[in-house]
Amino acid sequence: MRTYIKDLAGKVGEEVVVKGWVDIRRDHGKLIFIDLRDMSGKVQMVALPNHKEAHELANTVRPEWVLEVSGKVNARPEKMINKDEVNGAVEIEVLNIVVLNEAQTPPLDVRSDGKDINEEVRLTYRYLDLRRPRMQKNIRNRSLVMTYVRNFFTAEGFTEVETPNLTTATAEGSRDFIVPSRVMPGNFYALPQSPQQYKQLLMAAGMEKYFQFARCYRDEDSRGDRQPEFTQMDMEMSFVKREDVMDVNERALIALVQKYYPEKKIQAIPFPRLTYKEAMEKYGCDKPDIREDKNNPDLLAFCWVVDFPMFEKTDKGDWTFTHNPFSSPTPESMPDLMEKKNIENILTTQYDVALNGYEVGGGSIRNHRPEALRKVLEIMNFNDEKIEREYGHMLKSFSFGVPPHGGMAWGFDRLMMLLQNEPNIREVIAFAKTGEGADLMMRAPGIIKDEQLLELGISVNKKIKK
Ligand code: ASP
Repeated sequence: MRTYIKDLAGKVGEEVVVKGWVDIRRDHGKLIFIDLRDMSGKVQMVALPNHKEAHELANTVRPEWVLEVSGKVNARPEKMINKDEVNGAVEIEVLNIVVLNEAQTPPLDVRSDGKDINEEVRLTYRYLDLRRPRMQKNIRNRSLVMTYVRNFFTAEGFTEVETPNLTTATAEGSRDFIVPSRVMPGNFYALPQSPQQYKQLLMAAGMEKYFQFARCYRDEDSRGDRQPEFTQMDMEMSFVKREDVMDVNERALIALVQKYYPEKKIQAIPFPRLTYKEAMEKYGCDKPDIREDKNNPDLLAFCWVVDFPMFEKTDKGDWTFTHNPFSSPTPESMPDLMEKKNIENILTTQYDVALNGYEVGGGSIRNHRPEALRKVLEIMNFNDEKIEREYGHMLKSFSFGVPPHGGMAWGFDRLMMLLQNEPNIREVIAFAKTGEGADLMMRAPGIIKDEQLLELGISVNKKIKK
């Protein structure tokens, strides 16, 4: 039976079988040392000449070979104990080696933190890049936090609901990724920029408390904290006011930090609140970095930003929403919305949560009365036909008894980036894309066969076809 490396310390004197990757091999004359690594840790093994066969094989193994090793767990002599390692007090005396797979010399060092390695090489060989301890930790901690948040919201009475990825434009203000339909040639799905409309329709459906780890897609230029596809922890709840939504999200954020990042200090609890106006005046941006000490990597300065203007002017001079077309104005601004006056001063119920200068979440209370949503669309100069085409299903759902509701979404990759002290979100996404949105390992996007294009009724302009 296989023993995981982390469990070896409790097995001194026993014979065990361990399986994993050769981290490094060192020859010390007759003694050959191999550090073996599995998902749980690393252990030093020593092959001695008196176990001839194993010793000869040990001589041939190279880094990243995959081995099954039978051996005896020995306590290390006192002066050889390495207190900094999990298995620093034991080593394995190799009795037998089975080579499960050999490895070419990897094109990149998988033992370092990888920060000096060209990122294109790292992304091309991501399966090797992910072997490095830093990346293993990022991905494993991401899973722990995700599970914790799932359990948190489940315990609060929320239900996780998966919403479609093949959908239609979701009015989030970015460019959509488009998927052609084969069955209906000339028609296209859009990938969701967020589950915004579905989650509101779940409120119409009486779910009351919804959450989801949702993949979102926005065809924007990638930056350090943006990828064309990214993950939100998305939630929505019924019969609530702004305070209720902010409260449950704030508690979830605090709880997960305390659980998995006890070394980190949250600068202020409850999270300070700034109005948009205060944030702009004091920090010149709407996701302020309010850290008192910017040199301390373990300081988490969360803050809420509220009272954003609801509308802003487009380049063409029309009004558009600042955050979300479905947001409701603050109660004080509702009369102005309904009369479509004083538009520049209408405030939205939007609340954003910023962390160390990054926006890690945002949400709002929604307009659940169809006439209020219609006013928002009218202010943006949408004619009846456009309103019906793009928002008709939402307006209709609101005419069947939809409760007041509101919600929020966290930019989960950004949050993990900050918690793991990483400089960009690619370091916390297993299979990240480049700045141009390419997956270098899978070679996506790629061209498709002419038959596929034909089936979809699509012809690609020869000039742009590579
Ligand atoms: N759908 C919004 C977003 O993606 C979040 C929300 O308002 O709940 O930013």
